[in-house]
Amino acid sequence: MLKRILPTAKDFIKEIVQSEDILVDATCGNGHDSSFLARLAPDGHVYSFDVQADAINNAKEKYSEPNISFIHDGHENISKYISSPVKAGIFNLGYLPGGDKSITTAYDTTITAVNELFNLLTPGGRIVIVVYHGHDSGKVERDMLIETLSAWPQDQAQVLQYQYINQKNSAPFLLVIEKLK
Ligand code: SAH
Repeated sequence: MLKRILPTAKDFIKEIVQSEDILVDATCGNGHDSSFLARLAPDGHVYSFDVQADAINNAKEKYSEPNISFIHDGHENISKYISSPVKAGIFNLGYLPGGDKSITTAYDTTITAVNELFNLLTPGGRIVIVVYHGHDSGKVERDMLIETLSAWPQDQAQVLQYQYINQKNSAPFLLVIEKLK
């Protein structure tokens, strides 16, 4: 069977990551993705961002991989914390399931962060964005991301939309950006 969206998001990252790579989890949330990234690059490092102290603290408690730096700050400030080349990054947009639904990612800071992360990316590196668009601000974020990324120059990046089209309208989908060599 065709894979579901979240395992596919991980596959797009797993395909290119080597053990010593530097990786970014732009939306730490419960920390599952940070832990996944940390195990993919045991000799590398993961930088994991979230604006919610609760999320960061829970993730820290749950996951003890030594190669994760949890950062309590917005992903739009990524370049304050990272200067080394990044191989891959993941965004899980929206709000934290079971958490405060009023704290969601927002299109302007998301797009700033995607740009900043792209600047740090090594050639051949990837950014995977899981887009949740069931809520109102998620629809705006979806539209703005697609509008912005559709205009990115073909000679610098490939941008893929990966989506099931016969599921319910608000089923999450992926945007995958690969920096060209
Ligand atoms: N919708 C996903 C989970 C998203 S979690 C799912 O269903 O699995 C999104 C996380 O992004 C939340 O923990 C939230 O606190 C965080 N977040 C919101 N704005 C952010 C920002 N500017 N920088 C970093 N993290 C942010």
